[in-house]
Amino acid sequence: MMHRITLIPGDGIGPEITKATLEVVEATGLKVEWEIFEAGTCAIEKYKNPLPDEVINSIRRNGVCLKGPTTTPIAEGFRSINVALRKELDLFANVRPAKSLEGINSHYKNVDIVVIRENTEDLYCGVEHRIGDFAAESIKIITAKASTRIAKFAFEYAKREGRKKVTAVHKANIMKLTDGLFLECVRNVSKEYPDIIYEEIIVDNMCMQLVRNPEIYDVILCPNLYGDIISDLCAGLVGGLGVVPGANIGDNLAVFEAVHGSAPDIAGKNIANPTALILSAAQMLKYIGESERGRKIEKALEIVIKEKLCLTPDLGGNATTEEFSIKICEKIKEL
Ligand code: NAD
Repeated sequence: MMHRITLIPGDGIGPEITKATLEVVEATGLKVEWEIFEAGTCAIEKYKNPLPDEVINSIRRNGVCLKGPTTTPIAEGFRSINVALRKELDLFANVRPAKSLEGINSHYKNVDIVVIRENTEDLYCGVEHRIGDFAAESIKIITAKASTRIAKFAFEYAKREGRKKVTAVHKANIMKLTDGLFLECVRNVSKEYPDIIYEEIIVDNMCMQLVRNPEIYDVILCPNLYGDIISDLCAGLVGGLGVVPGANIGDNLAVFEAVHGSAPDIAGKNIANPTALILSAAQMLKYIGESERGRKIEKALEIVIKEKLCLTPDLGGNATTEEFSIKICEKIKEL
């Protein structure tokens, strides 16, 4: 069967890790017609629009997209196309698993956390303005609809994946109304899942607990901003941003992308670790009903990393992005 999938290679290290990922997907024998689009900085130069309509239309048509990282200008310029894509397509759930992989030198061995982050509101609504020269305001929006929807998603995910516990992260001691509403909704939903342990934790304490004892956490449910920060923290627990995949899920649409950004400091050097995007692609294959091929990719990656066959510099090796992906393709063919 031929699949049609939208592809946004992105910028920075995006094109390098996308190339590696496509080779790995191809090695599984999957037949894909990729609809390739530019977005972000490269699109703004060409089309004067960081997120051209054709990109959105293509994802709507195909139902699924693989996306490389895209740069967002800091404190000026166009708004993040990641945020725009998630809002425009109502990709309300961001799923970011952080799992220890044998062979990666990290401080912890048995981390297996999935961060589920609300993806459409909170401070990411971008409702902010300057008040004269000396003040600025940003509005945090939390709704019962979005909070209930993400809570249901998290508990359903936990049930389906055989997970035992959901931990809701908040700062409702200070933001009593916004985070208070988020918690109220999650609590209500949690009552429908008596077999899953439910607990709540204040975000600052969450950071400290994760660094001290990450093994005790399972599914972590967060509003948008805390989820963004906590998922990078969790990436650090299992070897860094190079190895953590992600998915943005809506009702009938999904965009798969790594947690990391465009890494301008290492772009064009052929040393970026493509693992995170490759694992995102593996998740994507499972989503489109190609679970066997998705599992094969994960297995091949596990072997290459565990046996330290060919690691990129972020994992302590000196392999290039290309050498790493060639090794994974070889392993896939042996499986
Ligand atoms: P970053 O994730 O790009 O990089 C942080 C650090 O991790 C850097 O030292 C980088 O070299 C390293 N790193 C990241 N990915 C790696 C990989 N695959 N292999 C090896 N090392 C890797 O974060 P940043 O520097 O804060 O952001 C750069 C740009 O990316 C910004 O414009 C930001 O807005 C954007 N960004 C985009 C996305 C996305 O497209 N989904 C996500 C986060 C950040």
